[in-house]
Amino acid sequence: MSSSSSDIQREQKTSVVNLSDAEWKKKLSDEEYRILRKKETEYPGMGKYNKHFETGIYKCAGCGQELYDSSSKFDSHCGWPAFSSSVATSVKRQKDEDGYREEILCANCDGHLGHVFKGEGIPDANGKIIQERHCVNSASLKFEKKN
Ligand SMILES: [Zn+2]
Repeated sequence: MSSSSSDIQREQKTSVVNLSDAEWKKKLSDEEYRILRKKETEYPGMGKYNKHFETGIYKCAGCGQELYDSSSKFDSHCGWPAFSSSVATSVKRQKDEDGYREEILCANCDGHLGHVFKGEGIPDANGKIIQERHCVNSASLKFEKKN
């Protein structure tokens, strides 16, 4: 089989929405797979980005799509990374299987991120009340530092 004629330069794409379950398992770490693909939740207070406040962008650990800017991150003391808003349309929402929470997922690869909570009355660093808290698993994120 000659591959030379079909060796077309592939475009750099972040879209990996068509991966099978087995392919995801190979691509992700065990923890990332359990959380992103099986919707599990990491232990509170244990995630690598829980108390992480550097300047940069948090990307999807599954597909690399930009999800949250560090400027929207705040310390909610809930045990998981918390953001007041996401990057544009990169995060989609759906009703959780439990029937009352709102689940958040990467809009590009459907990876499970966490949940959105509203009306908690938590003030941000400037004393302004935060409208919604995106409660996100650290394992669903990959941080990229900005200089
Ligand atoms: Zn993704």
